[in-house]
Formats: sequence, C-alpha cells, structure tokens
Amino acid sequence: MATDHYEVLGVERDATPEEIKKAYRRLARELHPDVNPSADAAERFKSVTHAYDVLSDPQERQRYDMGGSGFGGGGAGSFGFGDIFETFFGAAAGGRTAGPRSRRERGQDALLRIEVDLDEVVFGTKRDLEVDTAVLCETCEGSCCAPGTHPVTCDICHGTGQIQRAMRSLLGNVMTSSPCGTCRGYGTVIPSPCPTCAGQGRVRAKRTVHVDVPAGVDTGMRLHLPGEGEAGPAGGEHGDLYLEVKVKHHKVFSRSGDDLLATLEVQMADAVLGTTATLASLDGDVTLDIKPGTQSADIITVKDRGITRLRGGGRGELKIGIQVVTPVRLNSKETELIKQFAASRRPVPPEFSTFQQGLFAKLRDRFLGV
Ligand SMILES: [Zn+2]
Ligand SMILES: [Zn+2]
Repeated sequence: MATDHYEVLGVERDATPEEIKKAYRRLARELHPDVNPSADAAERFKSVTHAYDVLSDPQERQRYDMGGSGFGGGGAGSFGFGDIFETFFGAAAGGRTAGPRSRRERGQDALLRIEVDLDEVVFGTKRDLEVDTAVLCETCEGSCCAPGTHPVTCDICHGTGQIQRAMRSLLGNVMTSSPCGTCRGYGTVIPSPCPTCAGQGRVRAKRTVHVDVPAGVDTGMRLHLPGEGEAGPAGGEHGDLYLEVKVKHHKVFSRSGDDLLATLEVQMADAVLGTTATLASLDGDVTLDIKPGTQSADIITVKDRGITRLRGGGRGELKIGIQVVTPVRLNSKETELIKQFAASRRPVPPEFSTFQQGLFAKLRDRFLGV
C-alpha cells in the first residue's frame, strides 16, 4: 500500500475535512460491492475506505502527513494489534475487517424427490417439475431498491460496514470491529426498498424445471442440476437442485442391478411337453421357448432386455424364473388320465434329493423379488 491516500481519494493535500468526506462518498457510491461487483472495484473500495479512515481522523491525518504511518497508516499500532487479535480469536467480528459485505449471495441448494416407473428406468425419461422457489425480482432486477432509487452510504460506519472499538485485553489495547448495526454490515442502507420484493431482490415463485432422467437410475440416487436451485438475495447466482430418485414398485418385474427379474407360471402339461409363449416385457414382446421337461426354478435368460446401463455399455438381461403349476380340482376323467399316466411309469416314491443350495437361493431371490 504505497499509494498516497490523497491520490486515492482524488483530493489535494490541503483538502478540508468536508472535501475529504465528499470525495469518499462519491467514490464509495461508485465502488461499493453492492453496486460494483468486480474484484477490481472491491480492491479500490478497500483502499478508498482505508484512506478515508486515516484522513478523516485529524490526529491520524497529521501523523500521516508527517510520514509517520506509511505502512498501512493504521496509526497507534492498531494495525499490528488487529492482526494479532484476529490470529488469536479467529473469526471474531465476522472475521471480515476488510470492508462491507455484499447483499448479493448465492441461493440455497434444494433437494426434491421424484418417483419414476420401472419402465421409465429402462430407457430414461424426461420430466417437467414445477418447483416452488425464489426467482430474481423483475421490478428491481436484484438491486433491492424501488425503481429510480439507489442504496446510500451508511452514515454510521461511513460505508465500511464495520464499527471499530478499542478493547482492553491480555494483549493490551486492541482494536476490534463488529458489523455495523445500522446497515447490518452492508455499508449501505436502502432508503426505499423495492415494493415487489420488500428489498430482498428476489421473490417466491413457481418455476418449471426440465429434467432428463437418465436410463439406469436407481432408488436413492441423486441427480445434480447445477443452477436450478433458488435465486440468491440481491441478484445472487442460483443454487443447485438435487433430485433424489425413487423407483416405484412394479407388479411383474423387479430389478437386480441392470437385470430385470420376473416369475412365469407354466402349467404342468406345458412344462412336460414344452411350448412357446409370447409375453409383454417392459419394452415390447418377447417370445420364450419353454423346453420339454422344464422344472420349477429353471431360469430363462433373454439377453439385452434388461435395464440400459447408467454409464453406457448396453443393457442387462431379463431373467425369467419358471414356476410349474400343478393342476387342482380335477374332474373324474382327468383323474383317470393321470392315473393311467402314473401306471405307465416305473413307480418312484417321494424321496430326499441331494441338498441344492442353489435351488433355494434361486427360489428365495425370486419370491423376495430381489
Ligand atoms: Zn425487487
Ligand atoms: Zn453502517
């Protein structure tokens, strides 16, 4: 900070306190972060405010004129102590001694839940969601001021947003700063708040968000939509929207990774003799070949009829578990036929077979809809 405080404010070295104040106000209106969001302006605003702090205090101005406080010009050692104070007490006083804070802030993120059907998961889907959110106020376009009016520099803190106080502590006298109560740390006050948004720069509104739900999403996944959250105060950027997906239960098909599972009931005679069946899957008909001698818990696999993989790489499989249905309530003729059939076979009494873990695993998975 080798720059000259008089140059920074654009005044002569013999400027009166009134002229200094006027110069400062003019520059603050131009450079204040509420009005001028550029980083360059923020830096200049700091220098301007600092120059004003020094030159508006007769004692400090005198010391500065005599070359006494070239380094930062804080005077009375307050610069150094302020640093120490902050080092020790962290974010005391908001941790911001460097000027006012901006009214403009980023909007909050939002989380919504959406339910999708399993057939929408197979290929992905589109949704138009109506969200209740905050949008930019069109009356003031985020300035927070009634049309034709502007924020004015706060008289109490002179636009710094901070009130300086000397405090005694173990370290001796230290300067502390706290946010100005009049402007709440903004450095400006709004004399005529925008009537539409009550000076917030944003209003509540319903907005439609177009969502591409990709194929392969699963319950619990979150879709991230950057910039689709609420608008921030005072024209601040939008937050993000997150959508948590829930896939609805389907009566026929269930999901296992990228595969679809289903159970097919086959009548005893069809299981014995074999047949073909055409069935509606989630995306069109599939024709299944049920071989002669098909057993309960056999699985027919249809390739590429599962769910489209989320990260590309084709589709999973459709796995169909067979359940053979034993006929009940036979009439006398049917009973006679079955007896004839049984008599034609070598009798085999019911007996234990070798334990097959795999069979139970298949059955359990199917019936639990895993
Ligand atoms: Zn407004
Ligand atoms: Zn203030």
